[in-house]
Amino acid sequence: MLSVSPRRCGVAGMRSRQRMFAAVMRLLLKCLRLGRRRRFKLVRQVEQLWHYGRLCLRSLLYNSFTNSDVVLDSLFEPVYWLVDHVTRWFGVVFVALVIGLTSSIVAIVYICLLPLILQTYTPAWICWHLAYGHWNLLMIVFHYYMAITTSPGYPPQAKDDLTGVSICRKCIAPKPARTHHCSICNRCVLKMDHHCPWLNNCVGHFNHRYFFSFCLFMTMGCIYCSISGWDMFRDAYAAIETYYQTPPPTFTFRQRAFHKSVVYLWVLCSSVALALGALTLWHAALITRGETSIERHINKKERQRLQKKGKVFRNPYSYGSWNNWKVFLGVDVPRHWLTRVLLPSPHLPHGTGLSWDLPPCVTEQRAPLLAI
Ligand SMILES: [Zn+2]
Ligand SMILES: [Zn+2]
Repeated sequence: MLSVSPRRCGVAGMRSRQRMFAAVMRLLLKCLRLGRRRRFKLVRQVEQLWHYGRLCLRSLLYNSFTNSDVVLDSLFEPVYWLVDHVTRWFGVVFVALVIGLTSSIVAIVYICLLPLILQTYTPAWICWHLAYGHWNLLMIVFHYYMAITTSPGYPPQAKDDLTGVSICRKCIAPKPARTHHCSICNRCVLKMDHHCPWLNNCVGHFNHRYFFSFCLFMTMGCIYCSISGWDMFRDAYAAIETYYQTPPPTFTFRQRAFHKSVVYLWVLCSSVALALGALTLWHAALITRGETSIERHINKKERQRLQKKGKVFRNPYSYGSWNNWKVFLGVDVPRHWLTRVLLPSPHLPHGTGLSWDLPPCVTEQRAPLLAI
């Protein structure tokens, strides 16, 4: 029978514990090393994915024209989408509003203003008011009808016979000079000026004159009503102020309706005259320079760009202030000022809107110079 001393037993136990401890430590170190390697591998994979994603995104969105404007436009795309859709769907409401408000003013003029003019004014003044008022009304109705029903002009569908100067990114089609894409109409418009919600139509090559004439004659009509109705407005306003006095005045329902109608007429006409007058002046300045609203921004940028290079920008569609007006209004001979400007005229503008040759009135003026 073997006998083991307790001392030997203790030493052996201690050695085996040390071995076990060393083995555990080795295992732990191995695990740690393995974990670190895995962690590095994971980080490397994430880095690779990030670089690949960034490269993929850049290759998809890369454009040599990308700048802060493009980025801002992209960010505001949902807002534009909403505005476009609201304008498109509310176009009919705006047109109904223009017709309704104009009709109400015309009705008040016939019911309230005209009887007073006939009773109190001299025959000469009566003739003037009847002639001017009806001429102005005719011009407003004619130009508004023509502006909403005339197509602004679109590039032809057959792309072969079209000489485009650029490509529309939305239509993926050639775009002639001065043509721009309307996001509300969702198509390219020839010599596009802007999309007018009050017409529910784009203002372009074929209806630009109708739009401007409507603005001008509407402003003139509103100024006419504001001036003619000023005395009546003062009296009606003073009468309305006495409504709440004690004892209350003894106005009939008809008199009260008359007072309120006159105040409504004057407030609406003077407000429209101010707002539309400013818009008409702005468009008149653009026509004088031979620019559209869109070209105003494009030309401004181009002017600044060339100025930095020490060059001067020249608008190729401007023929001089006076000629620009003649071309815009379609005045080729002096009698056209009467037949085409002061009377309703459905004549077409110069050119097709696809190419921009010199108009006849400009060519005639330049011919003698060329001969010299
Ligand atoms: Zn387009
Ligand atoms: Zn449009």
